[in-house]
Amino acid sequence: MQDATPQRRTNGRTAGAPLSVTVLGATGSIGSSTVDLLARDPGRYRVEALTANTKAAPLAKLARELGAKLAVIADPSAYAELKAALAGSGIAAAAGPAGLIEAALRPADWVMAAIMGASGLEPTLAAVERGRTVALANKECLVCAGDLFMRQAKACGTTVLPVDSEHNAIFQAMGASDRSDLARIIVTASGGPFRTWTREAIAAATREQALKHPNWSMGQKITIDSASMMNKGLEVIEAHHLFGLPSEKIDVLVHPQSVIHGLVEFRDRSVIAALGAPDMRIPIAHCLAWPERIDGPAAVLDLARIATLTFEAPDLDRFPALALARAALENGQGAPTLLNAANEVAVAAFLAGRIGFGGIPRVVAAVIDRAARQGVMRAPESIADALTIDRIGRTFASEFLPEIAAKTA
Ligand code: NAD
Ligand code: MG
Repeated sequence: MQDATPQRRTNGRTAGAPLSVTVLGATGSIGSSTVDLLARDPGRYRVEALTANTKAAPLAKLARELGAKLAVIADPSAYAELKAALAGSGIAAAAGPAGLIEAALRPADWVMAAIMGASGLEPTLAAVERGRTVALANKECLVCAGDLFMRQAKACGTTVLPVDSEHNAIFQAMGASDRSDLARIIVTASGGPFRTWTREAIAAATREQALKHPNWSMGQKITIDSASMMNKGLEVIEAHHLFGLPSEKIDVLVHPQSVIHGLVEFRDRSVIAALGAPDMRIPIAHCLAWPERIDGPAAVLDLARIATLTFEAPDLDRFPALALARAALENGQGAPTLLNAANEVAVAAFLAGRIGFGGIPRVVAAVIDRAARQGVMRAPESIADALTIDRIGRTFASEFLPEIAAKTA
């Protein structure tokens, strides 16, 4: 006899059926943590599409291991290598921006958005337009075009789940509470490798020093952002869009042990914290199973061994990037888009040895200042507009590089 009750849908998946999954940015740090979880329970998932930027061989290997239907390489010059590496597998190959959009539009229940930077905006939005679930790691999407992004998600009926550890923690701590009962949220920060350094020492930090994060293993760009604390600034803007809260209700707290990832304070002054080991497989597993739970491979949190949790206020003088991001959020208009674009250019220039570490916030401040003076601070009205402002920010930043290199390299 047929059961008349509708099958319960969980996370866009019909109960009992495999969850179909696409991973945008599958070869990166978040992508690898996601793939690790998928590979641990192959019966639960069916992999639709995987993408990478330039590395065809690791992408083809992953696609074969996970039985993906489509593998896409962003760099068109790596297409022939990808095609050859997939020969005989039955896995389709594609390349370039159109290929990334094709991957995002595939009929997956759940899409991990883990491309780095604003270049992930268009494919992530394509995934959003499908009206299912997007697990969002790519915070730059929200900094570049957060209002438009969240509006689009709402219009398409898409569930956006926060992957970033702090936002995932806050999302979990909020539970089903009424948003109007929130007094504030608190995003914690490890403080990065330069937490105790002087402003002068930070400005002169080397690439190797900046890439040595005390608690987390991540991609290079976010590791540099963590060292400058721009990452925390981007996360304040990210929290504003994800949770619909104004700047004054989003606090930053330095917590060097990275055990508490986020806190929520309610109007009755109850505070709920979410804790866990510093392992991105925890928030990713939460998003993969939501609203259910799955077993996770991360280390058990041993608070007796950790023994001490400490907290400090962030120092905006030694970490000017955090102040710049907060000011961009409060200025609104095109400021966050410009901030993100300038920061991406500055971080790439630092990693390439073109500017000193202290040059990163200088580039960002110079770009925002010039945009304000030239009257190009308008709020983006469409995604095309956001990408135009992003390009203006990148052009300005590139033009400032020689001058700032001379002062900081
Ligand atoms: P990563 O550099 O390790 O990986 C980035 C992925 O995106 C790779 O698969 C790469 O091939 C792909 N990619 C890079 N540039 C691309 C482009 N122009 N076009 C298409 N694909 C491109 O980065 P990550 O550390 O995994 O971070 C990914 C995103 O997740 C970032 O937005 C980051 O801020 C966010 N995030 C990361 C962590 C973390 O622990 N790593 C935590 C929170 C949020
Ligand atoms: Mg984070």
